[in-house]
This record gives sequence, C-alpha cells and structure tokens, in this order.
Amino acid sequence: MDLCSVVKSLDTIVPKQLAEKWDNTGLLVEPLQKTPISAVFFTNDLTEDVLEEALSLKANLIVSYHPPLFTAFKSLSCKNWKDRIVMKCIANNIAIYSPHTACDAVEGGVNDWLLKCFDVTCILPIKPAHEVNSHVIECFVKEDVNFNTILGANIDFTILMRSSFEDSLCYKILINSAAPTTVCQMLLSNPSFLTVTSKECALPNASKLTGMGRIGTMKEPLKLNECIQLVKNHLKLKNLRFALGVNCTLDTEISTVAVCAGSGASLLKGVPADLCITGEMSHHDLLDAIHKKTSVILCEHSNSERGYLVNLANELQHKLHSVHPDCKFIVSKIDKDPVSIV
Ligand SMILES: [Zn+2]
Repeated sequence: MDLCSVVKSLDTIVPKQLAEKWDNTGLLVEPLQKTPISAVFFTNDLTEDVLEEALSLKANLIVSYHPPLFTAFKSLSCKNWKDRIVMKCIANNIAIYSPHTACDAVEGGVNDWLLKCFDVTCILPIKPAHEVNSHVIECFVKEDVNFNTILGANIDFTILMRSSFEDSLCYKILINSAAPTTVCQMLLSNPSFLTVTSKECALPNASKLTGMGRIGTMKEPLKLNECIQLVKNHLKLKNLRFALGVNCTLDTEISTVAVCAGSGASLLKGVPADLCITGEMSHHDLLDAIHKKTSVILCEHSNSERGYLVNLANELQHKLHSVHPDCKFIVSKIDKDPVSIV
C-alpha cells in the first residue's frame, strides 16, 4: 500500500482543514524511498524510546498525535532530541503524520471519546465549527506573495493549495474568521494579485458536532465521586488530580459535563458545566473554575488523549483492510505521560 493512499484515508478521517490555524498537521515527513506501507504505528508523543519501539516493529509510517515537528528548523543537530528523531525517521525511510487538533474538532474524535466516560445526551461542541464562516478564496498572482504580511495577524486563514498556472501562481486559501469581501479587497489592493474570487465552502465532514471541546447533559445526574470513578475506569488510571467546586461536596450531583482533551483552560473558561475534564490547567484557571462552582478533573495532558488512538487506528484499519489486509496497525505500548503521581 502506498503512503499516498494511507495519507488520503487519514485526511478523510481527521480532515486537516479542521485543525487549528497555529497547528502543524498532516504528512510532516515524506521519505525519499517509496517503500510500500506495511506497518502503521500510532503514538501520542514521538519520543526516542517510542521511536525505538516503532523501529523494532518495522513501522514505516508513524502517526504521532502531537506533531513531532512544530517550529521551523534552522539546523538539525545530534545534540537535540527532537532533531535526532526526525533524522532517524528520514534515515530509516519512516514517514510521520500528525492529526493533532483535527482530532479535537472532528465528530467521533478525541473529545467524543473522552466524553464516553458518561451516558450523556444533548452533546454540542464548545466552539462549534459551523459558527465559523468558511470561504475559499481563489487567487492568481504574478509572483509569490506572503499572505501573513498582506492579511495581518487578525485574519484566520489556511493555505489549501499553491500551484503554477501558465506564467502565474494560483492559490486557494480557506478564510475562517473574517468577511470574505474584506479579504478580497485587501488582496486586490496588492499589485501582485491578478484575480481574486471567493466562494462559500462546507468544511469537510462538518456536522453540528464538529468543533472544539464538548459539553453534554447527563441522562441521569451522577454524584461527583461516581464521576471520578467513571473517568478513572475509562482512562485506566489509578489516580487523577481533582479540584472541588466552591460549596460542592463529593456527593454533589453533576448534570452538565464539559471536556477538552489536552490543555483545556482557555476553551473551558466560563463554560457553564458542573464538571470539567481536561488534561492540565494552571492554578489560577482552576481557582476561576471552582469559584463558578465547576469542579475540575485533571488527568494529565496526554492521558486525556492517548486512549483515543485505539479508535483512530481501528478506523484507519477498517478503511484500508479490504484493499490491504496485510498491513499492520499498531498502537505504542511504551508511550506514556511524563507525569506520574508519587
Ligand atoms: Zn495535546
């Protein structure tokens, strides 16, 4: 099975366009040698230990939930562990793909998995994707342009395509948070732009459940201590960190619950839920939450994400099994959160 068809399937399950603008998702390392993909290896974090595991299993595609390449490289040095990982993958013809925040937004993604601790109804995203007014702008330019400089920091956009067309360049950009007419005017006022056209676009796989975080209502209210136990069971953890809402007790009944995998502080801020579940939150964010009578469960960053990888691996296997029954789909056994409670 070629890398391109696996990447296409991953892009359908966790569409890149759903990822946050600041993120770095999709195929991050493409090996020079086009060897068929025989083993896809899933991990939350690609550390050196995890890479050794992938190598021992002869994986030739690593799906790393967090992108191992995030900031721009100016050099690659053996002194830096992240550089060593990238170099080792390239030397061993291993491709790297990262879905990251696309998993947060997609229906059936990491937040839906996290909320499965409970029997919940009326589930909605905390920051819905359908509220985002998405437009694709197609433009032809005489020469290469820097959209960051032209549009500035306030316009949320993603470059979807850049290709040569006769003696000009064609760009397709996805505009998320600004009036498309304003963006078109800004582009047309730049002398490099020949034509600019805008059309509305539906986000891929977008539904009313597409978006960041989830909030839902318990079918039957549960006591706080029952909720804690259910989270422990779902995440297979013996210990959690926990902040009790002001005037609450472990017997307080929980009706609404909000989740955000990873670092949920900014998304969960002010969300009207009896209980919030996330990986990590700062001291001051916790104080704000509990004073709004919201209790908070912190399960450590990657513990709130890792269990979802089994779902992602199964979904990819299901998609590719009929055409490539021999390909292996393996979830790391070594990958773990760096924090442990002692
Ligand atoms: Zn994360």
